[in-house]
Amino acid sequence: MFWSGTGTRRLNAEAEQRLALARQNSPGSESWLALVAAALAETADVGRWRVTVHTLPEATRSARAPLLHGAEIAVDGGAVRRFVHRLADLAGLNGETPDPVEAVALVEAAICQDDSRITAADPAKLRVVAQVAALPLLVTAAQSIGATVSTAWCEGYCPVCGAWPTLAEFRGLERKRWLRCGRCATAWEMPWLRCAFCGETDHEHLGYLAPEGETSRKVEVCDTCKGYLKAEPTVSALPWSGVVLDDAATVAFDVAALDRGYHRPDRPGFDLDVHIVTHRSAFWKI
Ligand SMILES: [Zn+2]
Ligand SMILES: [Zn+2]
Repeated sequence: MFWSGTGTRRLNAEAEQRLALARQNSPGSESWLALVAAALAETADVGRWRVTVHTLPEATRSARAPLLHGAEIAVDGGAVRRFVHRLADLAGLNGETPDPVEAVALVEAAICQDDSRITAADPAKLRVVAQVAALPLLVTAAQSIGATVSTAWCEGYCPVCGAWPTLAEFRGLERKRWLRCGRCATAWEMPWLRCAFCGETDHEHLGYLAPEGETSRKVEVCDTCKGYLKAEPTVSALPWSGVVLDDAATVAFDVAALDRGYHRPDRPGFDLDVHIVTHRSAFWKI
């Protein structure tokens, strides 16, 4: 098989099948799904990014701060630039693809969830590209710091990267509720009947939506903050690709929640501060 320099990598058959089904069910989301496919493939082969992470010592980090807050992450700038360019092409941003420094800055802005740093003729498209471009790095960074989440963590946002959860799992026979980050794959446990976004615990203000006949998946909703979170039963922890693919496969649930006046929060759960640096080229080593 021929691999081009920019790397058109293949996904496994199950992921390909699930993406094809998502395309069928939601014909308007082809370009988004192409970006998702590229992120899944790149993450499976992320060694060339040469990711190293230096986190702040625990004692200097606030108890409410995610593990990556204040971290410095070193990467191979060339690998980041190639991936950003590939995504920009897929998103139809030809002629607007960023240079190497901009590519790394884009990924840094996306990791910090700071859209205001991303400006372009079509900022909305470039922001989506940046968010997807950050995924392989976030998954790898979370893995490399071997993040073990403190059982004392009780925030609704991800204890590693500060994002709001992508979905909730009701896991195993015990049906314990685990929140899952679609950015870095982290899982953290949260009790039932507690809104991940505003902390509401009054069951009068919490509920769920489910289409008629659907017995497994649902959407948790909160009438205090109007937030919603998709939820599903799982046998055990979904792999990161499973979180991403399940999210992509359930767009109809997002539409149903949005139609009823619920939304995902506009602001990130935590204003993460992460600095991305590039490894110095071996050429410069003396
Ligand atoms: Zn995360
Ligand atoms: Zn709420």
